[in-house]
Amino acid sequence: MTTDPVLTAIDAAVEALRARPHAHWLLAFSGGKDSTAALKIILAAYRKSGLASLNLTVIYCDTGVENPVLDIYVKSTFLALEAEFAHRGDGFATKILRAPVQDRFFVRIVGRGYPPPTNSFRWCTPSLRIRPVSRFIEAQDPQNTVVVLGLRRSESEQRDRSLAKSGEGLWQKQREGNRDYDLFLPILDLKVSEVWDAIFWLSAPTSIRARPLQELYRDASGECPVIKAPSAPPCASGRFGCWTCTVVRRDKSASKLIDAGYVELRPYFEFRNWLSEIRNDPDMRWPQRRSGSLGMGPFTIEARKAILRRIDELEDATRSEILDAAERGAIASLWRLDEYKRLSFR
Ligand code: SF4
Repeated sequence: MTTDPVLTAIDAAVEALRARPHAHWLLAFSGGKDSTAALKIILAAYRKSGLASLNLTVIYCDTGVENPVLDIYVKSTFLALEAEFAHRGDGFATKILRAPVQDRFFVRIVGRGYPPPTNSFRWCTPSLRIRPVSRFIEAQDPQNTVVVLGLRRSESEQRDRSLAKSGEGLWQKQREGNRDYDLFLPILDLKVSEVWDAIFWLSAPTSIRARPLQELYRDASGECPVIKAPSAPPCASGRFGCWTCTVVRRDKSASKLIDAGYVELRPYFEFRNWLSEIRNDPDMRWPQRRSGSLGMGPFTIEARKAILRRIDELEDATRSEILDAAERGAIASLWRLDEYKRLSFR
């Protein structure tokens, strides 16, 4: 019996695949190190299992506001993965998920006037990450689906406690809607160094380049979860996340990336800081909530227009598209609805 943790993880995954050879295996991929290691272990296990094919779908949830440097890495990796899977012909597939237009980050802020998220009002995680993935999982047959996550036991004391409580080891249950799905956690017992061992040692998929990923991690760390599993770390605790994130007080990963030479991030970073500053300016918020209760409500229409102007400037400065046509159309419709309301708040 092997004592190498990576080989042990592969053997456990071989057993899991052999136990459920006809299931639809859904692997949630963020581009970060943990989900990358989970994918590599599943592919190594598949090779070792002797199975002739596997119904494996790697899903990636695109929030539309991912850190641009990491976004380029993840999207190019994902495209290469798609081509590699098509070439292999083993039954592997990829799927990019996105929140519906009305739930996207800037449609909520600029269109509906939502204040940027904070720890106590973190509306973004369910809208941008959890729900798109949940909806996709809920559309699958619970009897015949296994969800694979790159969660690890040693990530933090908090996670250790919740994992210890759930007490089910590599196999757990995940509730989506009103149905339970099987959750398989292939890297649960790996330490960070072993995760990197798996990424560097295991060859498949070849489209994942270990060195650039490691270099990105030198300047940024962690990854946001896409599933509300009991053991998942809170979103924004990892920084493979949104460039707009105002949940963290200071975006240390972005500043480290800028210091490391990714100066193209500077305009995004400045915009995010500005958004955080104006959040609690009473002049920019309705004096009433949408529920009618007194207190800081949504951004005023003028504030939303000011934010949109800054987004336009940011698009010019970065030569990138931050809002697409559908999002701009949704914002215009939401403004028309709120134009009627604002008179009553004056
Ligand atoms: S990274 Fe920040 S903004 Fe993005 S979903 Fe997570 S908490 Fe929200």
